[in-house]
Amino acid sequence: MSVKVWLVGAGPGDPELLTLKAVKALNQADIVMIDDLVNPAVLEHCPDARIVPVGKRGGCRSTPQAFIHRLMLRYARQGKCVVRLKGGDPCIFGRGSEEADWLTTHGIEVEMVNGITAGLAGATNCGIPLTLRGVARGVTLVTAHTQDDSSLNWPALAQSGTTLVVYMGVAKLPEVRDSLLAGGMRADMPVAMIENASLPHQRECRSTLAGMQQAAHDFQLKSPAILVIGEVAAQQQVRGCSQFVAATPEPVWAQG
Ligand code: SAH
Repeated sequence: MSVKVWLVGAGPGDPELLTLKAVKALNQADIVMIDDLVNPAVLEHCPDARIVPVGKRGGCRSTPQAFIHRLMLRYARQGKCVVRLKGGDPCIFGRGSEEADWLTTHGIEVEMVNGITAGLAGATNCGIPLTLRGVARGVTLVTAHTQDDSSLNWPALAQSGTTLVVYMGVAKLPEVRDSLLAGGMRADMPVAMIENASLPHQRECRSTLAGMQQAAHDFQLKSPAILVIGEVAAQQQVRGCSQFVAATPEPVWAQG
């Protein structure tokens, strides 16, 4: 692998949701710089790499973005193969493109590897189809958390007829609820709140738009969690499988 920085999505948590391309990049990494939301179990694919944690969870001890930039650059200039490993997809609320821009501006080649984003994984695991013919003609991914206090166009979202998947929303439930109600969404719109999506300790709480704050409080909903808001959030049919290896019976042809 030539010297470049790989910006790799580690998926939502279940190590089996890692892509083959991510595994290949990890296999060849000298340095792996990881975020907090990355499941350390994926590091089995890079046993010889140096692991550098650079996490920064909201409200917790954080690694400044500028420091992360400089560190990636320093390792790359030393000729190391650097994997910058991020939870979910690097470009969904992951600052992947900012990091890529910065590196390319400094003459470093960058390759991006998709990961499965938490919102998609969480919904599928709970049997929620984010789009559904005749019910939801699209899906909108939004963050409830902004650094500049700018506001989303909530009335447009409320009336879009698309399923809303809200990231970083646990601390903002009253704002999300009030903004959507004020924007014209009906009070009994189904809501699913999914914590630790795709991990063995995944939990889900179903409610309605008007009731979601109380439901989350009673459930003691904690971050990381995503909110799925829309008609489809009442569905729970074919659920995802987060224990694929354990749950799969021996293949018939291997038994005799
Ligand atoms: N790039 C990531 C998102 C990072 S923003 C992705 O594509 O998934 C961090 C937010 O993502 C969290 O606050 C939470 O809303 C969501 N998130 C990340 N991992 C999650 C998980 N396993 N379960 C539920 N939500 C998760």
